[in-house]
Amino acid sequence: MTVKTARKGRVVVKKELCKGCMLCVEYCKRNVLRVSESFNKMGYHPAEADESAECTACMVCALVCPEVAIEVYDDEDRSE
Ligand code: SF4
Ligand code: SF4
Repeated sequence: MTVKTARKGRVVVKKELCKGCMLCVEYCKRNVLRVSESFNKMGYHPAEADESAECTACMVCALVCPEVAIEVYDDEDRSE
């Protein structure tokens, strides 16, 4: 039997580029992104990804980020 899983993505936030504007957090409909409790070198709380949340690789977070601090990897549709 073939089981087709949903499109699955993964995001990487370059935390030292992040200025903590939280646009990505607001725009991610899957609640993948959240505010980190730690600070980066500029003194901002950077965004971070919740690895347990389901990213769909929609790219919205990367598109709204004014600092180009987010990379989205699309692991593509997988058939097992
Ligand atoms: S790619 Fe889409 S689903 Fe994944 S973290 Fe960004 S906005 Fe959320
Ligand atoms: S949109 Fe970019 S700069 Fe703003 S919090 Fe998200 S990663 Fe950081």
